[in-house]
Amino acid sequence: MKTFEVKAFGAASREADLEPMTIARREATPKDVEIEILYCGVCHSDLHTARNDWGGTKYPAVPGHEIVGRVTKVGGEVTQFKIGDLAAVGCMVDSCQTCANCRQDLEQYCLRGFTGTYNGRDRHLQQQTFGGYSEKVVVDEHFVLRVPTNLDLAAVAPLLCAGITTWSPLRHWKVKEGSKVAVVGLGGLGHMALKLTHALGADVTLFSRSADKIQEAKSLGADQVIISTDESQMASVGNTFDLIIDTVPYVHDLNPYVATLQASGTLVLVGFLGELDSAINTSPMVMGRKAISGSLIGGIAETQELLDFCGEHNIVSEIEMIKMQDINEAYERMLKSDVRYRFVIDMGSMKN
Ligand SMILES: [Zn+2]
Ligand SMILES: [Zn+2]
Repeated sequence: MKTFEVKAFGAASREADLEPMTIARREATPKDVEIEILYCGVCHSDLHTARNDWGGTKYPAVPGHEIVGRVTKVGGEVTQFKIGDLAAVGCMVDSCQTCANCRQDLEQYCLRGFTGTYNGRDRHLQQQTFGGYSEKVVVDEHFVLRVPTNLDLAAVAPLLCAGITTWSPLRHWKVKEGSKVAVVGLGGLGHMALKLTHALGADVTLFSRSADKIQEAKSLGADQVIISTDESQMASVGNTFDLIIDTVPYVHDLNPYVATLQASGTLVLVGFLGELDSAINTSPMVMGRKAISGSLIGGIAETQELLDFCGEHNIVSEIEMIKMQDINEAYERMLKSDVRYRFVIDMGSMKN
């Protein structure tokens, strides 16, 4: 298969800083869209993959799965995009498209495994996939999203991962006007959860460990902030919420949050994968038909629905723009939670 070279930024090994490199992209097949990347959001998964924190990283690793750009080439069978269109790519660039889950627009749960935008296995080139920290990307039309033209394009980028990760549970659990929702954690995911829940007309509460986030949370759409370390405040919201979106990315005790679910309510984990500690006391769950669940990004149709919703409601992420060359420093700041709320790379900086 024919390939062409593009400039990228990636890690050559687990210990290495990200640095300029050249990677091969496949020439667009009849079903492919070639996109010049304008902006790419910086997700925690990028950092964990570059540093092999989860194991399984193939090097060189080129992260980036919050991609917004402009179409520069389309294959002969592409129907939804033409040259010059805005386009976006999120966490997936392929899946089997035939299994029971793919057929229900749940490509993120593909039974044969979806192809990650980076560190996946390219079904055409039989090599690892490379993400959005690069000049161009070539993606099957089915996995390319349309971008509303009225939004700040750089601030759209984080919708492709942080946005859809919180949107999918809001939709699956049918949050609407009058629903009572709580969000745990105010980072890249949490701030999107506040904005989207508020825009759906639901009542939204932020659980936070510190009082210094109250004003900011309210400006992002929170109706109230409950300090999770304050037992009386926690008791005041016992048996209250229909849905809790827990964005915390490290192990933490869920029992205090389960107590705030109302009967038949669900706590959904979107940030942490692994064993819980403390152990879960099932009594409150049994006594109130309460559930603990998890959710991974969202399907392609659902991601398009999110982008359209954000266009209609003028919703984007809060971002800090960086140059590609600043990525290593940005990773260090992310580790200290020193970002409000998402770094986005201006890919024009790669041309320098
Ligand atoms: Zn991500
Ligand atoms: Zn599938």
